[in-house]
Amino acid sequence: MSGKLYLVATPIGNLEDITLRAINILNEVDLIAAEDTRHTLKLLNHLKIKKTLVSYYKQNEKNKSEILISELLAGKNIALVSDAGTPAISDPGYEIVKSAIKNDIEICPIPGACALINALICSGMETKEFSFIGFLSTNKKEKKEKLKEIKNDKKTLIFYEAPHKLKNNLEIIKEILGDRNIVLARELTKIHEEIVRGKISEILDKIGEPRGEFVLVIEGSKKIDDSKTEFTLEEHYKYYEEQGLEKKEIIKKIAKDRNVQKNEIYKYFMQK
Ligand code: SAM
Repeated sequence: MSGKLYLVATPIGNLEDITLRAINILNEVDLIAAEDTRHTLKLLNHLKIKKTLVSYYKQNEKNKSEILISELLAGKNIALVSDAGTPAISDPGYEIVKSAIKNDIEICPIPGACALINALICSGMETKEFSFIGFLSTNKKEKKEKLKEIKNDKKTLIFYEAPHKLKNNLEIIKEILGDRNIVLARELTKIHEEIVRGKISEILDKIGEPRGEFVLVIEGSKKIDDSKTEFTLEEHYKYYEEQGLEKKEIIKKIAKDRNVQKNEIYKYFMQK
């Protein structure tokens, strides 16, 4: 019978952020596949766990998946961990999960820390719906294309960000998405944990030389889609009138599109 593949979340800073179940699983499995074995060894030493470690990182993900799958098929239980947080979230894991599914191997999540979720819940931004973008491409053209693609997304947007790219990326984001409200969640669960809120321009003025790890949470688009944003109020009215809508309904829709009170739109057209 095949063994099980456990995807075990580890702390994103504070070593106490690991569940009892995660500790039990790390103790019980036959081997632990880790993104950086030296890094994971420190966690295992802290937890007083002695276990065989094998490396499983982005560059060897495909090859290593095959080797690990044969171990699983031979009946071994394997825990996969990344350097921090939840495996397969901007971290290695996706390839082995795909192969495990193909090979009918049971996959068990062992939940725990995840930087994006913790940044989101502290952000004060809409949590009902959100889009996780992860790291923006380092290729300028691809980066801009991605930002243009998500420009009109009304959901809260979440990015992972490296400190040395933060300022430059904020400038590009401001240029494409506009000067939106953002939240910078820095060094979550660590000594220098900090959550900064404001418009992109205000944050750019505030931050000196960024240090540490960042999650960037950005308010979703408040605008209607591009074609309608360009409308004057009269054109906007005509747009809905041509769709056969009644005056009351048109005013309601314009107010919603522009994120303003119905009364404001009503007054505008009464004064005409
Ligand atoms: N798998 C991880 C998770 O579950 O969050 C993410 C790994 S990704 C390679 C690393 C990025 O996550 C960092 O560059 C940063 O954007 C974010 N991150 C990780 N730990 C963080 C922390 N303690 N505070 C803020 N951001 C963090």
